[in-house]
Amino acid sequence: MHHGARRTLTLLARRYQTQSLTKTSRRWNSTFNKREWSTPLARTLANAINVTGPIPIAAFMRQVLTSPDGGYYTTRAETGEVFGQKGDFITSPEISQVFGELVAIWTITEWLAQGRKRSGVQLIEVGPGKGTLMDDMLRAFRNFKTFTSSIEAIYLVEASPTLRELQRKVLCGDAAMEETDIGHKSTCKYFDAPVVWVEDIRLLPHEEDRTPFIYAHEFFDALPIHAFESIPPSPENEPQQPREIMTPTGPAKLHQPLKAANTPQWRELMVTLNPKAVEENQEGEPEFQLTLAKASNPSSLVIPEISERYRALKSQPGSTVEISPEGRIYSADFARRIGGSSQPPRAAPRKTRQGKSQTPTPPVKREPSGAALIMDYGPLSTIPVNSLRGISNHRKVPPLSSPGQVDVSADVDFTSLAEAAIEASEGVEVHGPVEQGDFLQVMGIAERMQQLLRGVQDEERRKTLESAWQRLVEKGGGGMGKLYKFMAIIPENGGKRRPVGFGGSVVW
Ligand code: SAH
Repeated sequence: MHHGARRTLTLLARRYQTQSLTKTSRRWNSTFNKREWSTPLARTLANAINVTGPIPIAAFMRQVLTSPDGGYYTTRAETGEVFGQKGDFITSPEISQVFGELVAIWTITEWLAQGRKRSGVQLIEVGPGKGTLMDDMLRAFRNFKTFTSSIEAIYLVEASPTLRELQRKVLCGDAAMEETDIGHKSTCKYFDAPVVWVEDIRLLPHEEDRTPFIYAHEFFDALPIHAFESIPPSPENEPQQPREIMTPTGPAKLHQPLKAANTPQWRELMVTLNPKAVEENQEGEPEFQLTLAKASNPSSLVIPEISERYRALKSQPGSTVEISPEGRIYSADFARRIGGSSQPPRAAPRKTRQGKSQTPTPPVKREPSGAALIMDYGPLSTIPVNSLRGISNHRKVPPLSSPGQVDVSADVDFTSLAEAAIEASEGVEVHGPVEQGDFLQVMGIAERMQQLLRGVQDEERRKTLESAWQRLVEKGGGGMGKLYKFMAIIPENGGKRRPVGFGGSVVW
């Protein structure tokens, strides 16, 4: 063999060796294991990514927020305050009791307009945090005796055991908590009604002829999202065609490149490890980063196809969308509880192949009743983009940093939630979103605040009340009055009646 050729071969062999070495888990793991990760959850997530490959933002969010081993809501609440002045962020119900009182008044206006149901009323709150909103509402409800006597139960959907205990203290006082088939249970301290906790709304039975009033304050922004970007058709994207794909048993080499697409395609934005931090140990480099997937995956093929709003954007390469399938599941569930299911009920629950009973389809309601109020931040009608954010100690921080110690959230896509509600039940209509400032003004925040202020002599207390009022309704400079929106799901009534705060007036 020619000397030059031999040298080239040796060089190639050596390069191949070093290249494959960089890919073997041994080298990767040595840095990996010695590395000081920002949090224990960072190590767990990095291990998962190392083994299974990049993970969707949704999987990352799920773990950092509600993992029993170091999730933000599940464990940070144990060590530090999450909400409030001392915590990482402050929410409207924590700013003033008036917020909860006005939401209670709104509930009463719906109950009145729907014919004052004397029984079967359920109060359901998803993600109750410290329990402040429900507590302020319950105190306000005590002024409406016929309403409180119609309340059958209070249901709280809460993933965090620590916050569940905090909520029990606030709402049930000394009453003990016991375990049940679906979660936990105690008794309300204000009037005789059970308080029931479940971890997921799907655990709450759909009972016939109930009137559920459902509240979600800053809950939907904590639900996991997927993000996608539309990429142009070939030939532009041809160099990006992957040589390796993930199969059920691990990565596999492609002998032929995947057939290039001739139309734009969605690619999912994935959480990956940053080699500069993890391999090269460079100071100040983030451990995790977002990378566009090189190939389609099941999520990118299915999720952005669920709505015309996303489909319309696919043909414009460079478009990005954020979608929360879980948000849609919750909104659809609310709608079915209020308006009944759009599908006729099955005669009897079917048996699965394993012989287990399937969850029966929720019943078609004879008469839709109840309402849901979704209170959160997000654009009025556009699809959220690039909205993943991290908050720690009232400051914005990179959302992928210090997993489990940073609150991670994303803008709520109200239109997507409205769409899911209407698709799920023919018995509902959706109103809004309207801006928080407008909703609270219509509900009478000025009158209520003035009433409170009249009894206050102390100058400090006066100032606190006035600034809380201001904060809740202020619209300028990114104020909460504009940033936060309210959206209502109510029984379908052929457009004859609008709810109060959404253009309607009080109906007796
Ligand atoms: N509503 C409260 C708390 C908002 S923070 C307020 O506005 O002050 C979000 C709440 O939802 C917390 O109680 C958190 O533990 C809960 N939560 C977050 N993700 C959840 C999930 N996937 N399932 C159930 N609860 C969740």
